[in-house]
Amino acid sequence: MTTLKPRPATRSWAEPWKVKMVEPLHMLTADQRSRAIAEAGFNTFLLRSDDVYIDLLTDSGTNAMSDWQWAGMMLGDEAYAGSRNFYNLEAAIQKHYGYRFVTPTHQGRGAENILSQICIKPGDYVPGNMYFTTTRHHQEAAGGTFVDVVVPEAHDPRLELPFKGNVDLKALAALIEKVGAKKIPYVCVAATVNMAGGQPISMENMKAVRALTKQHGIRIFLDATRAVENAWFIKQREAGYAGKTVAEILLEFCSYSDGCTMSGKKDALVNIGGWLALNDQALYEEASSLVVVYEGLHTYGGMAGRDMEAMARGIVESVQDDHMRSRVGQVEYLGEKLHGWGVPVVRPIGGHAVYLDAKAFYPHIPQDQFPAQALAAALYEDSGVRAMERGIVSAGRDKVTGENHHPKLELVRLTIPRRVYTQAHMDVTAESVAAVWDERKKATGLEMVFEPKHLRFFQARFKRR
Ligand SMILES: *Cc1c(COP(=O)(O)O)cnc(C)c1O
Repeated sequence: MTTLKPRPATRSWAEPWKVKMVEPLHMLTADQRSRAIAEAGFNTFLLRSDDVYIDLLTDSGTNAMSDWQWAGMMLGDEAYAGSRNFYNLEAAIQKHYGYRFVTPTHQGRGAENILSQICIKPGDYVPGNMYFTTTRHHQEAAGGTFVDVVVPEAHDPRLELPFKGNVDLKALAALIEKVGAKKIPYVCVAATVNMAGGQPISMENMKAVRALTKQHGIRIFLDATRAVENAWFIKQREAGYAGKTVAEILLEFCSYSDGCTMSGKKDALVNIGGWLALNDQALYEEASSLVVVYEGLHTYGGMAGRDMEAMARGIVESVQDDHMRSRVGQVEYLGEKLHGWGVPVVRPIGGHAVYLDAKAFYPHIPQDQFPAQALAAALYEDSGVRAMERGIVSAGRDKVTGENHHPKLELVRLTIPRRVYTQAHMDVTAESVAAVWDERKKATGLEMVFEPKHLRFFQARFKRR
């Protein structure tokens, strides 16, 4: 007699699209993978994409576009100035993010560079809810000092709290008290917080940051890279928002800020692009005179007309509740599976990625021997799944002392591209992570043999100890 399996108590969701075109994947043998990762200096950024099976390096620019976006690509107006696609993009940003003035940039860091240059003077402080690599780089290149004001809970991977990306209001108030509001050009609020595991910030906290900074005349600029995912979490977790749409929540959230930098390569469902949005006209005029130096004319900012059209349409698709349910739902599916097997992952599961706790995998490997880097390499060797280090290598060195930063979180990020992989790919990935977990006691650390000057995690090389 066959034993029946229990049926789930709740009904399933499914992706709100079907597949029209496919891209074959490659699988190397175990020997080929071992050779490939050694040749890449045990840095997954230095692997060839052809040597990767399931690519979870990043959700940046790895999105699959819809037929409507591809159709828009054919309507590219490649005029140097005043392309119709720019006006479509501007209208989509004004409608869904609510800011008044917009200039495209080649990607998020282009917008960060310009915002930092027009706002930050040498000696300034820029508080933020945890650092992000390129964001902090541009703040410091402009002479500022980044100050982390994320809630302390963000640094504890095991704590199960709904909004671990919140700003610590006491820490922010203490900084304002200590250095004075004149030395703080703006607060940089990230939604969600990438380096904390894709953790969201609540509407209540955002409102409170607005109220506090308003008293001191300090602006807020949003890193809106994953603000739509953040809006989905607010809908799921915050009282009073269950009945609102993601689009309504996004618009309200942005209304508590003065502008944003944006990497369109994440939420906005494209492969390249970004923007800088501002409400203040004088500041926008300063920004647009720098855009022409670094990016291109203010109506294209380094983007082709067709790419601006794809991003305008991607924004419209990204704010649909159905899309967000399946996007975040897929990440949760992978994360909950691993958690259920006892594999240490950052809790709760974030919006764009599942983060493995490398300190819990490899307690025998000291942080100066790069446990997360070693774990990402081991995962690739096991199955060809490519992940990314988010620990001591990514954290870099102190700009004054030159010493390594020692972040509390030593993580490996399994980042899920939007609309690209199936649930079966998530199963294969989870089984490979479990296999590496089973072999954890045999793992050894790494030694850095080449360290680039800037953003070292991209190009550093290692050897096994
Ligand atoms: C990716 C990212 C950026 C930088 O954007 P790019 O498009 O890669 O230049 C900034 N902030 C966050 C939170 C990001 O994830």
